[in-house]
Amino acid sequence: MKPIKLKINTKTQKYSIIIGSNLITNISKILKENSINFKQCLLIVDKNISKQFISKIKRSLNKKKLYVHFFKASEMNKNFSNVNKILDILLNKNFSREDCVISIGGGVTGDTSGFAASLFKRGLKFINIPTTLLSQVDSSIGGKTGVNTKYGKNLIGSFYQPNLVISDVKFLKTLPKRELICGYGEILKHSLIANKNFYIFLDKNIDKIFKLSSPFIEKAIYESCKIKKSVVEKDEKEKDLRKILNFGHTFAHAYEASLGYSKKLNHGEAVILGMQSALSFSLKNKLIKKNDYYSILKHISKANLPSKIKKFFKIKDLNKILSFMAKDKKNTSNKINLVLLKKIGYPIINKEYKKNNLSEFIKSELRN
Ligand code: NAD
Ligand code: ZN
Repeated sequence: MKPIKLKINTKTQKYSIIIGSNLITNISKILKENSINFKQCLLIVDKNISKQFISKIKRSLNKKKLYVHFFKASEMNKNFSNVNKILDILLNKNFSREDCVISIGGGVTGDTSGFAASLFKRGLKFINIPTTLLSQVDSSIGGKTGVNTKYGKNLIGSFYQPNLVISDVKFLKTLPKRELICGYGEILKHSLIANKNFYIFLDKNIDKIFKLSSPFIEKAIYESCKIKKSVVEKDEKEKDLRKILNFGHTFAHAYEASLGYSKKLNHGEAVILGMQSALSFSLKNKLIKKNDYYSILKHISKANLPSKIKKFFKIKDLNKILSFMAKDKKNTSNKINLVLLKKIGYPIINKEYKKNNLSEFIKSELRN
């Protein structure tokens, strides 16, 4: 299958996302086709990427002067100290604004490297090569970069668009199933907030997508990116429309935080649970079409995705969950602001509910 190109036009940058298989053997050609030039580059590489892939990338860039910095990707390491290490290398090797940082890894590596790139001399060239499904469909689009601090996740950062994104599905072959599920949660989210036909495609081809069969996996990534693209192009700095991307996320953040961001529940799994909570809450408030609600539940069960919050929480966790929901950085007052669903493809934003309403709802979810 030929690579697919998606052009992103934000106010600050125009760039392309190239989606395909085996792209990393052709990086030089892709750079030329996209008129991207630099003399030297720093590859920031997730330590879990196979050495074989890295050799291919190095071979493909053999005309450039290149340095490699290995990075142990984890939420703990997505911090200022690792940004500093990257900046140190760039300064030490005399990088200029015309040179390039290339991130090769998942969202953690991309967010950290992109943030460092935005800071170095107020910004040098940045290429993102996302290697997880989540980073290919979500974090590599939209220009949000940043790090965690002891006060919370992603609280420090910048908006900085890359010059190019290369999404090679070959990387996904070494990705653990759980990480695939995590990325799939965001793909499903995109379909639910924007495109019923895409949802129907996912429902029909779910097995092929999880088997990474071509062209199904490429199409799932492409359609998903297209949805995020259209949202971020219209609302680059997260004013209003971009809120729809938070579908399921107010619940999800509270679930993750209540478990102390432990390995028991990762972000994508929390999003899948969070979307189900948002759907049940939509049903309870008679907002969503019943057929759509039951179709989505069936899909989640067919795909074997996490589905019951009571597997992770007990009634005693209720207050913790609620207080994290109220603290979610996207909430502006004591009321809880939710993104809900009217029908597949039609989200509702800016719905505010009192903590009491939600307390009753979550209690009933935990009992059911
Ligand atoms: P990640 O980068 O931590 O990767 C998950 C795990 O997979 C890591 O252990 C990593 O080493 C490993 N890995 C990466 N590529 C691999 C491969 N090809 N084969 C085998 N293992 C591989 O996490 P993620 O899920 O990609 O991204 C999550 C991060 O993205 C979070 O920090 C989140 O805050 C951020 N995020 C950012 C945005 C944004 O808009 N910038 C959006 C969503 C999420
Ligand atoms: Zn998410």
